[in-house]
Amino acid sequence: MMQPEQHFPEAFQICQKFNISDENMNEIVHRLTKEINMGLARDTHPRAVVKCFITYVQDLPTGKERGKYLALDLGGTNFRVLLVSLNSETDIDIVSKAFVISKELMVGPGKNLFAFIAECLAMFCKEQKIEKDNLPLGFTFSFPLKQIGINKGIMITWTKGFNCDGVVGKNVVELLQDAINHRGDLKVRIVAILNDTTGTLMTCAFTNRNCRIGLIVGTGTNACYVEKTINTEMLDGYQTSNKPNMIVNCEMGAFGDNGVLDFVRTSYDKVVDKQSINPKRQTFEKCISGMYLGELVRQVVVELMQKGLLFKGLSSDAINEKWRFETRFISEIESDPPGTYRNASMIMDQMGIRTNNELDLACLRYICQTISTRSAKLTSCALVCLINKMNAKDCSVGIDGGVYRFHPHFHNLLMENMNRMLKGSVKFELVVSEDGSGRGAALIAAVCA
Ligand code: ADP
Ligand code: MG
Repeated sequence: MMQPEQHFPEAFQICQKFNISDENMNEIVHRLTKEINMGLARDTHPRAVVKCFITYVQDLPTGKERGKYLALDLGGTNFRVLLVSLNSETDIDIVSKAFVISKELMVGPGKNLFAFIAECLAMFCKEQKIEKDNLPLGFTFSFPLKQIGINKGIMITWTKGFNCDGVVGKNVVELLQDAINHRGDLKVRIVAILNDTTGTLMTCAFTNRNCRIGLIVGTGTNACYVEKTINTEMLDGYQTSNKPNMIVNCEMGAFGDNGVLDFVRTSYDKVVDKQSINPKRQTFEKCISGMYLGELVRQVVVELMQKGLLFKGLSSDAINEKWRFETRFISEIESDPPGTYRNASMIMDQMGIRTNNELDLACLRYICQTISTRSAKLTSCALVCLINKMNAKDCSVGIDGGVYRFHPHFHNLLMENMNRMLKGSVKFELVVSEDGSGRGAALIAAVCA
């Protein structure tokens, strides 16, 4: 049995910096609650860091929604076009096609991006022979968006590697509808714009009436939850609305951008932030999500290698290349059965480090566990915060994203940490809500249109 403290004390010391005590976890919950309240309230919203955008989605699905809907999913690894047929509560038929958004489009003019999206949509609709059907479309757009209606949203800022000119400050629905209309070969109506978190909540709620939270731990991280309309001051007429609830898109990834998480952040977090394309932004996301976890591991590994304390005598260009160590490697390394290092040695081999040194590979796994455990602890803080905020006694959480779905222990880490924090006072369930971006867009189109 490896004892980190004894077998690789220097790595252990570094990893200690990523450990978050129970006391600090409770403090994070407390601080996040404060930030959320600032986002909700009209007088503090303009300077709030966690924006808590209202989504204009005030009804959860009943399970009775039916029909054919188009959906677009932009803001993940792939851009996708989907045709979703809600046939029955248990039968949702999805035809979808994924397209790669090139690096050029990701950081080029917004006009080109929307023209490309419209082109993919047209191609897909022609294949499905629905280009003249004037189908309703739900647009899952997973970037910070200030909504002013169910199908009207102003782009706030790009995240997750995107940075297209001429979009921030504009109504994204209009940009896309214009690009579609400009083509002239396609009839579709964009009836709703939503975030992937909202889609995930709706998808889970379609089969699970207790679902009150949608969570993403994928390329980025974010969550939405069901708030009382009376608390959503950014809605005109919130005091007199006849709908009691409103889904709030927290835009939680930005938590900490004002420094309130600095008490748990490490020097490694600061390096990763600096070398990202959006420095000083998405602080919480950069400690949690798939875009960054691999790089955090790589930072620690490289430091230990440079000090001659890990993979001694070995080096490679790959391990020294920024962003080269992928988050899925963490999952694979942590999937090796105890005491074995098959995946770990294969991955290091791919990274140009050929070794079977078990002590080194154990150390590598320990670093991976440290980074994924911290991610799960921070995610647990966010969920506990929302559960407490709603004063929920019985709550399901719909979750999507590659980190949650593919990391071998992420679900268990969430359960363990949340149970400890909630001390058994709340019944909760964490449910994978696969493809919430697609199904959820259709459900919102069905519920709202
Ligand atoms: P998104 O829609 O945010 O891109 P996805 O559900 O498509 O989320 O997940 C993709 C992300 O999940 C990738 O960017 C990567 O960071 C992460 N990921 C992919 N595979 C794995 C894995 N095996 N283990 C952990 N994270 C993974
Ligand atoms: Mg996604």
